[in-house]
Amino acid sequence: MSNCKICRTNPATLPEGEGRERYCEPCWTTRLKQLWQAEDKFRTQRVIRTSEAEKYFVFHEAVKQDDGLCAVVFCLHDAIADHLDVSAYLLEVLAWEEKVPIIYKEGVESEAEQLDLFLSYLEGDIVGSWRAASWTMEVTRTAGQSFWVDSRERDPDKDDPDDPDAPEGGAEGEDGPDAPPDTDLPPRGRGGRGGRPGPSR
Ligand SMILES: [Zn+2]
Repeated sequence: MSNCKICRTNPATLPEGEGRERYCEPCWTTRLKQLWQAEDKFRTQRVIRTSEAEKYFVFHEAVKQDDGLCAVVFCLHDAIADHLDVSAYLLEVLAWEEKVPIIYKEGVESEAEQLDLFLSYLEGDIVGSWRAASWTMEVTRTAGQSFWVDSRERDPDKDDPDDPDAPEGGAEGEDGPDAPPDTDLPPRGRGGRGGRPGPSR
């Protein structure tokens, strides 16, 4: 058994696993504390909640635009299987591959990827709150800025009650199910954006 990489005196026992042991227990505890501090730079705001699904904005203190928004996360809970399906969309406002220095009390420096910190934060903060028996996550890296469409009222009289999948947005009720959806959304980046709530502080 080799010695701990940090103090170089105690035998390395953690993290557990074939050939993965690099730290002794006291140093591992310190390392976790540093990781928590790095993860603490993320914060979450829940923006929508239903009985089976929630949507969150995740913010990071290093991001200056949009109050620090760096990711949008959806959780969908399958109550029968007690399974949580997580979708995370990462905005390109954070250098996700960037190595974040983790510095120990002893002055030893190590590194963790921002993406790993985010995933660890997500698992601890959001996924953990659901207490589901199992969970899976799909992570998508996005390019460009998101845009926002303001809240709108819809006229229920214009919905075809026999077709729950009728396209939204201005169907006149006479369109057959094969009619293409009307596109009366505003042009991108003009006027329709705004109203995104800020992070809770
Ligand atoms: Zn040690």
